[in-house]
Amino acid sequence: MRPTFSIRTVCAVLAFLSVRSAGAVPPDEALVERLRAWPRVHERELLAGFSDLLALPNVASDGPNIERNAAAIVARMQHLELSPQLLRVEGAPPLVVGAWLAPKSKRWITFYAHYDGQPVDAKQWTSPPWEPVLRGADGKALAWREATGALDPEARLYARGAGDDKAAVFGLLAAVEGLRAVGGAPRVNLRFVFEGEEEAGSPHLAALLERYPKELQTDAWILCDGPVHQSRRPQVFFGARGVVGLEITVYGADHGLHSGHYGNWAPDPAVALVHLLAGMRDEEGAITIDGFSDEVRPLSAAERQALAEVPVVDDALLGELALPRSLGAPEHLVERLQRPALNLHGLEAGHVGAQASNTIQPEAHASIDFRLVPDQTLEGVRRAVERHLERRGWSIVHEAPDRATRRAHARLVRLDWGSGYPAARTPLDAPVARELVAAVSAAAGGPVVRMPMLGGSIPLFLFQGPNHAVPVIGLPIANHDDNQHAPDENLRLQNLWDGIVAYAAAFAGFAEQ
Ligand SMILES: [Zn+2]
Repeated sequence: MRPTFSIRTVCAVLAFLSVRSAGAVPPDEALVERLRAWPRVHERELLAGFSDLLALPNVASDGPNIERNAAAIVARMQHLELSPQLLRVEGAPPLVVGAWLAPKSKRWITFYAHYDGQPVDAKQWTSPPWEPVLRGADGKALAWREATGALDPEARLYARGAGDDKAAVFGLLAAVEGLRAVGGAPRVNLRFVFEGEEEAGSPHLAALLERYPKELQTDAWILCDGPVHQSRRPQVFFGARGVVGLEITVYGADHGLHSGHYGNWAPDPAVALVHLLAGMRDEEGAITIDGFSDEVRPLSAAERQALAEVPVVDDALLGELALPRSLGAPEHLVERLQRPALNLHGLEAGHVGAQASNTIQPEAHASIDFRLVPDQTLEGVRRAVERHLERRGWSIVHEAPDRATRRAHARLVRLDWGSGYPAARTPLDAPVARELVAAVSAAAGGPVVRMPMLGGSIPLFLFQGPNHAVPVIGLPIANHDDNQHAPDENLRLQNLWDGIVAYAAAFAGFAEQ
């Protein structure tokens, strides 16, 4: 996707300058200069170290290998004198934790990444997923260990986890080494937390956070996962939408009826379901459920400004996806993702095409999801949806109804709510947000893309603590085209070098208090 440069770029540069003057003091320029030079001087040992980490199979369910990954990270942390510990709960891969202390400061900033990766289908890979291979832009393998001379920064290292998320695990620890090597040090206490089952849905993360409150106490979390912007500019994200799923079932007669004998007389659940859904969302995507948006926190001026500066990829994306238009234009994709959404995953009632029969179906089903934004709560959304349906004459049940119940209610719907979780969004003007943006901008020598909230859902609320008070900010480094979760996952070397510099600048950029 090609970014659009124009007035927006000019605005972004101006904003970059204003961020620098808005109170957050970026690390000093001479230090950043030395940091920028450091990865390239040490590129061969860095690449060798990264390859060694990627050679360890890392599927969360593969206990023995997951432990080998944790042990390798511990060894690296020991070498860097980060006092590593393994935090454990029953049945989970260990959380690897280390710290770089700033004795004068009481403030803690915690960097998170995960060392597990998605399962693989090795047959679909060009080379085995846990035998890292460096390939040039032409796709040819490079015998870089035997050769000498500078590495091509456009070359990519191919292996499971190269982008998601060992790039961050390795990059953070390399940044510790790099910052020390150029004579820098953090003014705050830094903690590094590496999880081993993120790709399995982090089933024990809540339990770990609960069991080790002291070991994981922090004033802010920086989540190092995901890709940079499609324009290759660094990206910082400040939140993610929440999500909750809903299964809907509408009932007709207790068995299928001949549409000739009963059509126009017997209620048709498929038609009723379509009307029910049409009453909840219009064609442009706006949710028409009364009270659904009552809890929505409006975007701040700073958030609107950040959105206006995000490079526009909409036209390129429409072409790539063979779409004639986008919903809610002239709003762009990133603006649309800041709103709640109702998505229809599937509809089921009877059959179509060759399997179609002239039957009025006894039941009709729909699966939907709601994408949530701050400060919507799961209870608030559920209440609004159920009240909306009741006002339209629907009687709601949460289990399969018996015949008597089906007889007793003119319009009966069963709702099965998924568990779900809320959205999170850290204000852009929070001190930690300003410091991070200033440091990453200084490292990149230009503006960063500031994304108030990602469209996809991440359980950021877990990190926010019980009062949703702890700021959570994302700082990814992988290339957007890294094939994460897919065969031939890769990391572009320039992203690793830039990522190390960005992390090291961030370490140095937080103020003591
Ligand atoms: Zn990830």
